[in-house]
Amino acid sequence: MQHPTPQNATELTSSPHDTVVIGAGVVGMACALELARRGRRVLVLDRSRVGSGASYGNAGWLTPSLAFPLAQPGYAVKATRWMLDPESPFYIRPSLSPSFLRWLGVFLWSSRRSTFAANAPALVGLCRWSVDAWEAIAAQEGPDFGFDRRGLVMLVETEKGRESALRSAEYTGSLGIAYEWWDAQRVRAEEPIVTGTQIGAVFYPRDGHCVPNLAVDRLRHEARRAGVVVVEDCAVEDAVVENGRVRTLRTQRGDIEAREVILAAGFWSAGIGRRLGLNIPMRAAKGYSLQFNRGQVHPTRSICLGERKVTVTPHRDRLRLAGTLEIVGDDLSVNARRVGAIERAARSLLALPQERAEPQPWAGLRPCLADGMPAIGRSPHHQNLWLAIGHQMTGLKCAPATARLLAELMAGEKPTFDPGPFDPKRCCG
Ligand SMILES: Cc1cc2nc3c(=O)[nH]c(=O)nc-3n(C[C@H](O)[C@H](O)[C@H](O)COP(=O)(O)OP(=O)(O)OC[C@H]3O[C@@H](n4cnc5c(N)ncnc54)[C@H](O)[C@@H]3O)c2cc1C
Repeated sequence: MQHPTPQNATELTSSPHDTVVIGAGVVGMACALELARRGRRVLVLDRSRVGSGASYGNAGWLTPSLAFPLAQPGYAVKATRWMLDPESPFYIRPSLSPSFLRWLGVFLWSSRRSTFAANAPALVGLCRWSVDAWEAIAAQEGPDFGFDRRGLVMLVETEKGRESALRSAEYTGSLGIAYEWWDAQRVRAEEPIVTGTQIGAVFYPRDGHCVPNLAVDRLRHEARRAGVVVVEDCAVEDAVVENGRVRTLRTQRGDIEAREVILAAGFWSAGIGRRLGLNIPMRAAKGYSLQFNRGQVHPTRSICLGERKVTVTPHRDRLRLAGTLEIVGDDLSVNARRVGAIERAARSLLALPQERAEPQPWAGLRPCLADGMPAIGRSPHHQNLWLAIGHQMTGLKCAPATARLLAELMAGEKPTFDPGPFDPKRCCG
């Protein structure tokens, strides 16, 4: 089914649109594709370019073994210790603003073992389904996005690290995620790039990875074929809400009417939410990635430097490092010390190529709701507003299932996944 592309502002604003998605990151594009395939006429608006937010330069991991909510047991203690370390991989920038204090309070409360135990299986479930969905997309004809499913090697350097890695593996194992233990010799035989003093690794054979910006490009390609219209440089600046319905979106290209609206603008959803009358407790978890040209020894699989919280992703012609989680506001500045710490950590364990492919690191803002879980479903205050936000560390790896769940809820169908843990009512007032 082909729908016309609005050629000018008049076409965009003259008649009501069926479904408008705000935000063309991996989550917004996955929702647009799913809805278009179900016969809806979908318009996607982005204030910038498709996939230019957090979805652009992330680690590219598609790893159900690591699809956890941000709020995890032990993080409260670790966060306090790491706050004093300028090179730590996790940092919460303190502030006395009421919105930050509210966010922090819920975050710490949600780090309890019982909340984690209730939320983690739901997220792992979304991720498992999504990785199969990405694999199915990769198997079809279309632009390559570097999908690979040869597994993840979680390196362990100390006995304490081994205990913690195996505890995590046993936990995800109980949710159906396969793993095996490799000793140090096996690690070096399988991945000769590993040269450090690790004592072994947990290997997850069914994990995968891809090139994140190419994955969004692929969704855009599929979405266009399904008739989705994408308008870039079209920021949603305000909205008119009447009787619990979003009537009009005020954009930089004029007013747009929509029968149904999906908010999928990543970290920036909180600001747009305010215009729509929603209080969304969102902070950004800033992280960085660095790219190196392919060296003589290139890993076959993704590698996690578990105790240093650094990820290593082998693309065909590049090697990508990513890491750091700084809880901040709308701040994309680069902290050179933390970036340096990512590279030093990787060099101490791997034979990394000397030169970076791009001298500047990339910074991105992971959208984090206070309880560390995404919100997927109808807005608590609007009949025609739907949320697909707050995917924190898991947006790429959970995007297809998020889109499936949202589309099913919008259609009033029995959902494939239990929507309870993702219900926006729990956090967006
Ligand atoms: C260093 C790092 C590594 C990561 N690694 C992984 C990983 O390996 N696997 C994984 O699954 N996740 C990973 N993540 C998390 C992942 O990147 C995010 O969860 C995901 O990109 C969020 O997608 P999104 O579509 O919700 O938001 P975004 O990609 O940020 O997209 C939001 C879009 O909304 C648009 N927008 C904003 N304001 C407006 C407005 N007013 N009007 C219209 N449009 C607007 C923006 O321009 C943007 O395009 C990582 C993140 C970082 C920072």
